[in-house]
Amino acid sequence: MSESGQSPESAREGAAEDLREGAADAPHGILFVISSTSGGGKGTLIRRLLDSVQGVSYSVSWTTRAPRPGELDGVNYHFVSADEFQTMRERGGFLEWAVVHGNYYGTARSVVEQELNEGHDIILEIDVQGAAVVRQALSPVVSVFILPPSYEILRRRLEARMTERPEELRIRLGNARGEVEQYRHFDYLVLNDEVERAAHQLTSIVYAERARRARQEWTARRVLATFHDPAQHVE
Ligand code: 5GP
Repeated sequence: MSESGQSPESAREGAAEDLREGAADAPHGILFVISSTSGGGKGTLIRRLLDSVQGVSYSVSWTTRAPRPGELDGVNYHFVSADEFQTMRERGGFLEWAVVHGNYYGTARSVVEQELNEGHDIILEIDVQGAAVVRQALSPVVSVFILPPSYEILRRRLEARMTERPEELRIRLGNARGEVEQYRHFDYLVLNDEVERAAHQLTSIVYAERARRARQEWTARRVLATFHDPAQHVE
């Protein structure tokens, strides 16, 4: 799944260590982790979600990958050198990091913690290795895997977007099966066969998670407090 000198396990261990230091504070917002294969369409679905649901933030990752045409620094990613990435990592600045398709990617710890503490839900659009690290080290986490309809459709989508050179495309397609195999570790699966339907399903997951009783306990108590105690009720 990862094209690097570093095994997924060691990437995971390193990142998990980075993460534990910050795990003590109970977050107020919901942490959503959304993963897929390259070309699985998660970017489009996440954009739809951010446009239609209030109060959801997006974590802009750090990467050593070169920007694609049209990608903006600070918007799509923080594009950094390998040295800058390493420095951030050594400072414990990443909640998780991984080597994916031969490049480094990482989630800035401070941004995620701040958003959660301010009560905002936040989305991490990260690969399956990063998802495993976050799931192990933080709870509760709501994880969603976006399934491409088939290998053939995935291949055609990746080729049609023409953002990768042939060698990079080969690596991404070669890693795809291993990524899809990880589906069983996720809480939700969204089949991205039709964008409208899949986007609707993704937003429904966010709304349903917000409505969980454990997350609405405070609201319920506030409502209950407005009712008179029947024992003290005088006709
Ligand atoms: P791309 O190069 O196509 O933008 O992303 C390649 C893969 O890296 C995708 O699966 C994407 O979700 C993942 N990725 C992006 N940011 C992060 C991150 O911060 N951490 C991890 N672990 N994966 C990331």
